[in-house]
Amino acid sequence: MEIFETKEAIQSYLEEQRSFQKTSAFVPTMGALHEGHLSLIQAAKKIADLTICSIFVNPTQFNDPKDLEKYPRTTEQDILLLRQHGCDILFLPTVEEMYPEEEEKWHIDLGELDKIWEGANRPGHFQGVTQIVYKLFQIVKPNYALFGQKDYQQVRVIQSLVNSKQLPIQIVSQETIRSEKGLALSSRNSLLSEQGKEKALVLYRALSWVKTNFNTNSIKNLQKEATAIIQKEEVELEYFAICEADSLQEATEKQANKSYVALVVVRIENIRLIDNMILQ
Ligand code: AMP
Repeated sequence: MEIFETKEAIQSYLEEQRSFQKTSAFVPTMGALHEGHLSLIQAAKKIADLTICSIFVNPTQFNDPKDLEKYPRTTEQDILLLRQHGCDILFLPTVEEMYPEEEEKWHIDLGELDKIWEGANRPGHFQGVTQIVYKLFQIVKPNYALFGQKDYQQVRVIQSLVNSKQLPIQIVSQETIRSEKGLALSSRNSLLSEQGKEKALVLYRALSWVKTNFNTNSIKNLQKEATAIIQKEEVELEYFAICEADSLQEATEKQANKSYVALVVVRIENIRLIDNMILQ
């Protein structure tokens, strides 16, 4: 695996690869890699000649400085895993490399996506995400970019970035990888105690209940039951919402021709955990 730490180095390498007509699939990450990230690498390998991963803990997308400070960093282990899984290229820049100078405040119009759920609860988060992903896309210029459905709203946001900047990049979304018991894998899980991880299973329990009972219950009842399941555990519920899968607007009544998704965020041991499930 080729490892690059500077924009210039990776750009000139990729330019040469493109001159040989090689296609590329890109998996941006913040490291502390787990099977969820590695499933994206595996999917990338199937669709393009070159698989490119980036590891960069992007400061501009953290609205909570403490969250940034305690974000797990396991670069040596990550490199090993990427090698084992046949990743071809790793981009591993420093903060100075990605943000070398004062720049104008980034802003992109994401419409409603920036105002609801993660947009509302983490002010500035999606602006930070789109800022870094746009920078990475400009450097890597991939044919495909892969993202996890675990961050459902993020996939919508990235598609909106690609549309508004008219980038020739195909966005591919991959299903959420879970532990045997159903906990969605996340770099943040490593910050939980064993007891915290047990409590976190309530997310999967609530989501699964809603999926199983979707056809026989009203939206209002599904919402009520799921909230009750979560509140039985000692966790801090930030939101549980049943939304239209496309617009992410909160659903009020089911319509036959529409798909729905349940979105949930809780805090356990002060760690913020996000999950979702497509219902129909
Ligand atoms: P992160 O390192 O958390 O920024 O995640 C990098 C990419 O991996 C994002 O596209 C995430 O949605 C994706 N990802 C994270 N966890 C999972 C998971 N459990 N299953 C599938 N994809 C995931």
